[in-house]
Amino acid sequence: FQPWNDPLARPLVEFRNVTKRFGAVTAVDGLSLSLYPREFFALLGPSGCGKTTLMRMLAGFERPDSGEILLDGVDITAVPPHLRPVNMMFQSYALFPHLSVSDNIGYGLRREGLAKPEIARRVAEMLALVKLEGLGARRPDQLSGGQRQRVALARSLAKRPKLLLLDEPMAALDRKLREATQFELMDLQSTLGTAFMVVTHDQDEAMTMADRMAVMDHGRLVQIGPPDVIYEAPINRYVAEFVGDINVLEGRVFAVDGDLVRVESAVAGPLELDEDAASFVPGDALLIGLRPEKIALSHDEPGQGVNKVRGEIWDIGYLGDVTMIQVMVGGEGGTLLKVAVANRTRRIERPFAWDDAVWLSWDVEAGLALQ
Ligand code: ATP
Repeated sequence: FQPWNDPLARPLVEFRNVTKRFGAVTAVDGLSLSLYPREFFALLGPSGCGKTTLMRMLAGFERPDSGEILLDGVDITAVPPHLRPVNMMFQSYALFPHLSVSDNIGYGLRREGLAKPEIARRVAEMLALVKLEGLGARRPDQLSGGQRQRVALARSLAKRPKLLLLDEPMAALDRKLREATQFELMDLQSTLGTAFMVVTHDQDEAMTMADRMAVMDHGRLVQIGPPDVIYEAPINRYVAEFVGDINVLEGRVFAVDGDLVRVESAVAGPLELDEDAASFVPGDALLIGLRPEKIALSHDEPGQGVNKVRGEIWDIGYLGDVTMIQVMVGGEGGTLLKVAVANRTRRIERPFAWDDAVWLSWDVEAGLALQ
């Protein structure tokens, strides 16, 4: 499932050079983006980068200052919200407290003037879909938080939109329920074939659910792609630091050789990166990004490879799945690097202790050249 790589695939939604300003603030800045049918798309970025504004323009609650929004190839920029085959589920869910679950779910269908038996049939279908059979007569205040979220989801899907927009859909749920709900939402989405666009602050959530995600900064798209590509090949430091944890070292290119870029780093000495050598020139300053889980830690000097550096353990944090160890390299006042050591057995091992002298090493394919 990669329609974005297929030149013949027709996008479901196209933003074409869309700009939206609020007074002096440019919330969305000349942004172009295509979404595809059946796609699960996640928007990521710091608070205020324009995620909600982008979504509200797609739902029709905001009008762009310039640019166009197309749905199935038709310009919908001027179409009012209720006439768009797009629905939005809000963070607050916005359920009617005085209506039953069934009446909440059927609300939009009644407004559309559907016949009663048809409404009843669709409501039953939706209740089954979100696993709330038997709870149709309850009011929202008689439900748990997770159940309320499902009612909101069922209500937004009842009109069978082509696209569902979800603003922080899990924000009100506790962590365990969030994880379970992520998989339910993915199942639901693939069963229905509705395209989903979700805004979230939680990058793990975005990576788990999304076919593709986009990282925004100041109203622009910085990078867009499948989660593994964003994580393993971020185009710059902003993306690398926003998605996941990363160590950054300063360096200078001193040689390029086929697929190897040789770099001199002030704290770690000569290092090698597996990068397209054609993009680098000796003398260039560059940043080397290293994810904590890609660094190996040992007491003895690793035999092979140039990518190794000595350090001293400054801090150890046990996190369950991994132990996060902070290592000072380049002596006191040098650089602290984070290393994630996987806890592979259930025996609690403590091979490393504070103040230990250690070696850090990594594969040539582990380091990233960052702008
Ligand atoms: P958050 O993650 O905090 O929800 P966001 O990425 O969704 O943030 P937006 O809500 O889209 O960001 O806001 C983008 C910018 O536009 C912000 O600077 C915000 O203050 C501004 N903005 C959004 N809506 C309005 C409005 N109705 N009036 C004035 N400024 C607005």
